Amino acid sequence: MKKTPLVIATTMIMAMATSCKDMYKKDGPNETPTEAVAVQAAPVQSIMTAEEQAGMTPDEIIGRLKKGNENFAMNNLTTRDHSAQRRLATIGQYPKALVLSCVDSRVPVEDVFDLGIGDIFVARVAGNIENADIVGSMEFASAVAGSKVIIVMGHSACGAVKHAIDATDAGGMGMASLQMLLDGIKPAVPAQDAEAKSSKNTEFVNEVIVNNVQRTVADIRDQSPTMATMEAEGKLKIIGAVYDMESGKVDFLN
Ligand SMILES: [Zn+2]
Repeated sequence: MKKTPLVIATTMIMAMATSCKDMYKKDGPNETPTEAVAVQAAPVQSIMTAEEQAGMTPDEIIGRLKKGNENFAMNNLTTRDHSAQRRLATIGQYPKALVLSCVDSRVPVEDVFDLGIGDIFVARVAGNIENADIVGSMEFASAVAGSKVIIVMGHSACGAVKHAIDATDAGGMGMASLQMLLDGIKPAVPAQDAEAKSSKNTEFVNEVIVNNVQRTVADIRDQSPTMATMEAEGKLKIIGAVYDMESGKVDFLN
């Protein structure tokens, strides 16, 4: 007898039901499936300890951050048990680094380095420039709280840098504070002819993004003799980096 499509479909459903039943039967009355279960790493529950922080060199920390960024770029972030980490973190914090980033919503700093609760300090200001409050926060992170790496991280297509390049008159629009911020980025904009000096010139924008990061790194050393000394003694590294929004990769500058 020739099977109709309905008969074939019914047979297939019954076969599937039987194999599912077999799969659950193996573990007895609890019916726990033992097959076709993907092996997943248990969520990380621990946080950075004082011993772990003390035992790492600045270069080891930078290596850890680079590996974390690879994970992010590969869409392979570590699974974390935030409830457990939160409970542990109430005792204290021993972060390994501070990252100064732009406020841009497309730069999720902890994710970019595959990090979680208690791993890093994050300071954010549009255009990732330093001021007394930011440098003070860095002194706290390094000299007081034991972090050994300071990263100034710019990013591609930064709006604050673009407005600094185009010399947007924020003050004239009633935003004196924004104007002060843009004025802080302007020294990173090299003199150029009017045509090249434009936020539409991607190559020029990228050049200013790197300049701005390097200037900020130099300014931090100038403004904090404490951190400059720590760096000279090998206890701290202050480095620049640029995050590429398209690839998710962080390029560490020399
Ligand atoms: Zn930005």
